[in-house]
Amino acid sequence: MSKNITLTMIKPLAVQQGFIGPILAKINENGFRIAAMKLLWLTENQAKQFYVVHKERPFYNDLVKSMSSGPIVAAVLENENAVDEYRKLIGATNPANADAGTIRKLYGTSLEANAVHGSDSDENANIEAEFFFSKLESF
Ligand code: GDP
Repeated sequence: MSKNITLTMIKPLAVQQGFIGPILAKINENGFRIAAMKLLWLTENQAKQFYVVHKERPFYNDLVKSMSSGPIVAAVLENENAVDEYRKLIGATNPANADAGTIRKLYGTSLEANAVHGSDSDENANIEAEFFFSKLESF
C-alpha cells in the first residue's frame, strides 16, 4: 500500500498545557513519519482562512478565536492510509465521545479545545499541508 499524508495541528490550549511532547510521542509510537513541522501563532485572518469551509457554521467565530489564541504546532504526517489512521488515533471530535487512549480523550478538554486537528480527506490534507509548508520545508 502506498503512503500518503495528513495535516495535524496541536491546538493552542494543548500547547499551553505542555502536551506537545506527549502528543508527538503518540504520533511516533503509532508509526507516523513527521515530514514537516513548525511552531507558529496564527492570526485571526489566517485561522479564518484555514477553517473557511466552516464559515457558515454557528461555531465558526469561536473556533477562529480559539485557534488564534496562542501558538500551535502544525505538522505533516506520513503513513499508509494517513488520513484514516490518524483520525482513528485522535478519536471523535468531542473528547467526551472519544475512545479511551485516543489523543483527544487523553489531551482534549472540550469540543472546541479538542487538542488536535486532523485532515478529513486526502484532498484536504494536501491543501492544508500547502497552507503551512512550502516544498522547501517538507521532506
Ligand atoms: P474535526 O474534523 O473532527 O476536527 O471536526 P469538524 O471539522 O466538524 O470541526 C472542526 C473543529 O471545530 C473541531 O475540531 C472542533 O474543535 C470545532 N467544533 C466542531 N463542532 C463544534 C461546536 O459545535 N462548537 C464549538 N465551539 N466548536 C466546534
